[in-house]
Formats: sequence, structure tokens, C-alpha cells
Amino acid sequence: MRIAIDGPAGAGKGTLAERLARHYGLPFLDTGLLYRAIGRLMVDAGADLDDPAVAGGYAERLQAADLKRGDLRGRAAGDLASRVAVHPPVRAALVDFQRAFAARPGGAVLDGRDIGTVIVPDADVKLFVTASAEVRARRRADELAAGGAAPDYGQILAEIRARDARDSTRTVAPLMPAADAVVLDTSALDRDQVFAAAVAIVDARRPA
Ligand code: C5P
Repeated sequence: MRIAIDGPAGAGKGTLAERLARHYGLPFLDTGLLYRAIGRLMVDAGADLDDPAVAGGYAERLQAADLKRGDLRGRAAGDLASRVAVHPPVRAALVDFQRAFAARPGGAVLDGRDIGTVIVPDADVKLFVTASAEVRARRRADELAAGGAAPDYGQILAEIRARDARDSTRTVAPLMPAADAVVLDTSALDRDQVFAAAVAIVDARRPA
């Protein structure tokens, strides 16, 4: 069973994808890590993030070990990721690895932006997990506040809107629901409700 989960930053798709993978005993790939690692490697090397050919070279040389870096989470790496993710050579270099992961015997769960549209268009289940920008910004701010920080809600909201705009308007593999994706709006749901809704969708659609 191959489950494709897409959606904008901060909608809760990563948490959901991980939980679904555990529930169904499937391997899980957070594809955002690929783009995040490329962004970090390029910054380390002082490379130009906005040069498509240079960024594509980093994508081609990406190693599994690069995904284990400790600095891939968080908004800074996410922003670098969305800058390198606009480049067609970067996206092209990552297709085979993602498809091979999805083709594992028994299936897999992948989350990202273009899983249902480009990487695994024949996935058994496609979920598009979303929430309003305001709700996503509020969740981010609450998480940061819980960690002891003093987050600036307005700034977080502006960052989320900027990332949405960049991810949705790029020419290659823009963020959008696949025609056959089930859209799950989590704005008014807590994590358990999102998980329960997703399990109901998967169970209804998975092959007998
Ligand atoms: O999901 P995550 O926040 O880790 O993704 C970081 C960025 O990487 C996204 O904003 C997007 O620009 C890019 N991305 C992508 N395609 C994917 C996964 C992530 O373009 N499949």
C-alpha cells in the first residue's frame, strides 16, 4: 500500500505521515529532508542557492548520510529547502530515489509537496493535508512558546505565506492537490482527530 501525503508547511502532515506509517507498519520517507539537506550543504559550501545547475549538482551527489544531519528541522532549513526546490534539475535528480522508496515491497508512506502529483501518481491513497495559514502560524507559535521561546506570530504568519506562495507558484511540481486526492482540512481538528480521519480514508481506499 503506497500512501502519498502532500500539503503546505505546518499543516501537520509530517506528524500524520509518521503516525500512519507506524499504524500500518510501513516505511516512511519525509521528502522535505532531501531538499532541506541540499539547502544546508550548499550554505556550508558557500554555493549559490539560486543557481539551478549548481543546486542540481548537489542534488545528484546527495548521500543517505546527509539526511541524518542534526540541523534539518526548523524554519531556517525549511526556507533554504523551498529555495532549492524551485529548480527543475534539483527535482529531477531526486525522483528516482523517491520512487524506489515508494516501490518497496509492501508499500510505503511518503510526505511532501508533489508526491501524489509527480512522484507516485498511482499511489493507493492520496491525502492533501491543509489548514488555514492563520491556524498553521498559531500552531507554530504555540510550539515555540511551549519550548520557552517568545515567538512573533505576525512574522511566522508572513513566513508561512511567503513559503506557500513560493511552493504554489513555481513552474515545476507546484504544491497542489492531485485530482484524486482527499483533502483533509485540519484547521478545526486536533492531532488525534486528524489521525482518525486519515485512517478512515485509508481503510476505505486501500486494496482488499
Ligand atoms: O515538508 P518540509 O517543510 O520539510 O519541506 C520544506 C520545503 O521543501 C518545502 O517548503 C518545499 O519547498 C520543498 N519540498 C518540495 N517537495 C517535496 C518536499 C519538500 O518542494 N516533496
